[in-house]
Amino acid sequence: MELPRNPTREVIIGSVTIGAGHDIAVQSMTATKTHNIDATVGQVKALQEAGADLIRVAVDSKKDAEALVEISKQTGANLSVDLQENYKVAELIAPHVAKLRYNPGHLYHHEREKPWQEKVQYIANVAKENDCAIRVGVNCGSVDPEKLINYDSNDSISPMIESALEHCEFLDSIGFTRYCVSLKDSDPAKVIEVNQRFAAERNDIPLHLGVTEAGIPPDGVIKTRIAFEQLISKGIGDTVRVSLTVPNDRKNEEIEAGRQILSDIASGKVRSVVKFDLDSLNIISCPSCSRVENEAFVDLAMQVKEMTEYAKDYAITIAVMGCRVNGPGETDDADLGLWCAPNFVNLKKGEIALGAYPYDEILTHLKKELDQLIEEKKSEKVG
Ligand code: SF4
Repeated sequence: MELPRNPTREVIIGSVTIGAGHDIAVQSMTATKTHNIDATVGQVKALQEAGADLIRVAVDSKKDAEALVEISKQTGANLSVDLQENYKVAELIAPHVAKLRYNPGHLYHHEREKPWQEKVQYIANVAKENDCAIRVGVNCGSVDPEKLINYDSNDSISPMIESALEHCEFLDSIGFTRYCVSLKDSDPAKVIEVNQRFAAERNDIPLHLGVTEAGIPPDGVIKTRIAFEQLISKGIGDTVRVSLTVPNDRKNEEIEAGRQILSDIASGKVRSVVKFDLDSLNIISCPSCSRVENEAFVDLAMQVKEMTEYAKDYAITIAVMGCRVNGPGETDDADLGLWCAPNFVNLKKGEIALGAYPYDEILTHLKKELDQLIEEKKSEKVG
């Protein structure tokens, strides 16, 4: 089945080209500690064997940057680097990767007095000098605070679009066009809307699609499939990532799920009639990455899914996040949220912090809060 494709620009990302009708590239991200070179080389090789077109690695420090140079040497993989707060490491790693991803919502953390335009100009210069592409990666859990204040708190989509469009306009204005954009949310319906609205404004910009924190398979795959089917069938999307919460030795499942969804869409086997029942328990969990505060995170997410099974018929969202990068923001929108610190787990009810608990006690506290929430839901129904 010939799928429609938006007339996006061609963007070369090392050994793969996206946009302009090129095949939709499938990518993943390592979840090992980047400075653990052997573990990360192992995961990169496993993703290469699984057929990844591009592999992203988180780099937050000089130590990570030095490790990435070695990882690139040992694997020869088509790598992209994920820059969050510390964008200044870009020049250390750009010669060894094909793409630099920055998050507009995290640029303000360093050198707060410096305008974001100067920081993006720096990243663009480094990219140009090192034959790299760029991704402007907007994420619902960390939207530019200066954009959030312009909109009602119920409208999480418009500030994301405004932030992305502003960065596209700036990059175009400085003559840097070798970039793509991503607009990610953990709710498939919002991913569909935000990407459709962005594409309606800029159908020339290649889009990287993903449901962020989609969670544990099979739910994580189902949520992602719903969004991809609705977007790719309408010509929106040039590269994809399926964010799954899985143990490090199962990261290849992200590539397999991505390829399967694309081939099903291409052969017309779409299942979007299957509405992801948000009127029942919804577990949001991040796919983990080098920033994870404690290796116990993935097990914790699996235990939360198991322990909360008894509440499956209640329209309750529980978010489980691996660190403080997207943890605090993403858990704000959940009914109950857990975000990890090295030795304890923060428990929240919406935006309210309830406390920080050791890893071996957090499930007990979560269950207490969940039971109370269920009682509240029951009395709402009676009321
Ligand atoms: S929340 Fe933290 S650990 Fe999880 S994927 Fe995002 S940056 Fe990585």
